[in-house]
Amino acid sequence: MYLRPRVEPPLAALLTDRPFLHSLADALGSPLNVLLPEAVAENAARFRAVYRRHHLTGRVYFAHKANRSSALLRRLAAEDPAAVGVDVASTEELRHALGCGFTGDRIMATGPKDAAFLWLAARVGATVNLDSPGELERLSGLVRAHGLGRVAVLVRLSGFESAAGRGGAGTRLLSRRSRFGTPVRDTEELLSALERNADTVEFAGAAYHLDTTGVEEKARALEQCVLVMDECRARGLAPRALDIGGGFGVGYVAEAEEWERWTTALTEAVLGVRPPLTWRGHGYGLRNEGGTVRGAAALYPAYRPTAGPGYLDELLSLPAPVLGRPPATLLLEHLHDLYIEPGRSLVDQCGLSLARVLDVRLADTDAGRYLVHLAMNAGDMSLEEHGVLVDPVLLPRGEAVSGDEEPVGVHLTGNLCLEGDLITRRLVFLPRLPRAGDLLAFVNTAGYAMDFHAHHAQRQPVARTVAVERRGDSWRWCPDEDYWPITPLGGAVG
Ligand SMILES: *Cc1c(COP(=O)(O)O)cnc(C)c1O
Repeated sequence: MYLRPRVEPPLAALLTDRPFLHSLADALGSPLNVLLPEAVAENAARFRAVYRRHHLTGRVYFAHKANRSSALLRRLAAEDPAAVGVDVASTEELRHALGCGFTGDRIMATGPKDAAFLWLAARVGATVNLDSPGELERLSGLVRAHGLGRVAVLVRLSGFESAAGRGGAGTRLLSRRSRFGTPVRDTEELLSALERNADTVEFAGAAYHLDTTGVEEKARALEQCVLVMDECRARGLAPRALDIGGGFGVGYVAEAEEWERWTTALTEAVLGVRPPLTWRGHGYGLRNEGGTVRGAAALYPAYRPTAGPGYLDELLSLPAPVLGRPPATLLLEHLHDLYIEPGRSLVDQCGLSLARVLDVRLADTDAGRYLVHLAMNAGDMSLEEHGVLVDPVLLPRGEAVSGDEEPVGVHLTGNLCLEGDLITRRLVFLPRLPRAGDLLAFVNTAGYAMDFHAHHAQRQPVARTVAVERRGDSWRWCPDEDYWPITPLGGAVG
């Protein structure tokens, strides 16, 4: 019942250096986050390669909210300014991006915005991704009141409908409702607001970000945006970029077979035809109603045949439903720049979270299950919170003892005095029973699972974060905040 993680170099090489990881955790405590800034640059290069394959221009904007790290942002700031930018969703993220070396013209401001956020974005020449006509009016008011220059804006659209039915009878909603963006059917109001405020804002294009893995849904949204931009051009506006948001996904589990076997087993366990696979029979959204499984599993599709840059490639190559040409061709023909805002997928394979094993004991003697108590809580490593199920990697302390070592199912519990503080609700199978002092490495946590939910409950320590880099045969490290993309890494020697 393994769900073994997908691990690629250089993360794979880092995991084989047990003494190094143990020495880091000994010195800096548990939990500990370890980041590989070089890997984020590699990922950006892979996205850029997809642009080149389709002859597209435009920028990759890293969605900062996926990780708070300075090292990752600074490493990306060192990339080609025309190719890589950052998407910020708060005043603090904007300040952080500026401090990490991004100039305003490489920054996209998204999400809900207060006056301070709008003012700073306008002041530094960032592109403002507008949520609504109201936000446009507030931004224009600020620009006028403070004598600022014209601000480049994108308009975020949502509620995509079938083109034929727009506004008329039989209108069909093609994407699920979102609390963000302006519904496509209200474009008119938005366009007149843009025209009215042409002295303060420069209309740069349309945007969407859909919270779905469905590639067809995204292709339809993309096509609708192209149609809206055609409408804009017919009215004398001059949009030049289409921002298709993020959500390109990550494959966490290495083997399709393991993923299928486990999800099938979950269904069987919910039906009661096999022993529970989870803490107290938790069903991850599935339930047994008189012998039938009901509900939908609230799980991230942890095995993904295509994700990240591959998913972008697939999206750009799909035939578009109305206009009949693939999205890449549509963009090329219209001379639109393509903007993307990958978060999770841009930090794929960029880090891991370490937790020290404090204690191991039998949970209930009959089932022979163990509780493995970790120096970490569910806020420190929130893959579970995001519905991502994947095994940690056991890093024994010292030499493994040979002999009666065999795979064992364990529950991973956290360091809070809360019944609910489980690192995973799933029974996790490890190649052998861990011992106090061993480390568990949760791989691929850089996207949302590292510090998104970290808190100070019970005054437990929040994880320190370090950046590491391969130098010859060994690894160098420095605190995340001391990393700058210059050699040697941060000037520190590990
Ligand atoms: C969260 C978010 C993203 C990033 O999404 P991922 O799934 O991490 O790629 C991009 N754009 C916007 C507007 C977002 O809110």
